[in-house]
Amino acid sequence: MAKTYKCQDCGYQYRQCLESYVCPCCGSENIIEIENQAEAFRGLNICPVCGEYVFEKENSFEICPVCGWEDDRLQKLNPDMEGGANKLSLNQYIRKYYEKEEREEE
Ligand SMILES: [Zn+2]
Ligand SMILES: [Zn+2]
Repeated sequence: MAKTYKCQDCGYQYRQCLESYVCPCCGSENIIEIENQAEAFRGLNICPVCGEYVFEKENSFEICPVCGWEDDRLQKLNPDMEGGANKLSLNQYIRKYYEKEEREEE
């Protein structure tokens, strides 16, 4: 099964069947797997869905202007928990966000 990876340096996203931790765009090895993204961003104020917006404070219940995720501490700690500030769980939201981006690129 293909996994989705994201380069933390240039923001490039790519799907690959083999494990691949080198960015095909800039060559960086600063790569996260989208499935593990909830964990990668734990404890940071960075939006855990798009990784592109930084909330002013932690657990602000602010809404990310990039992807629409509402910053909910409980849902970040329990990435499979549905029905917090966001109707979908964090992992569902992440998957939906990247699927949508892929469709728009086609
Ligand atoms: Zn890159
Ligand atoms: Zn976001």
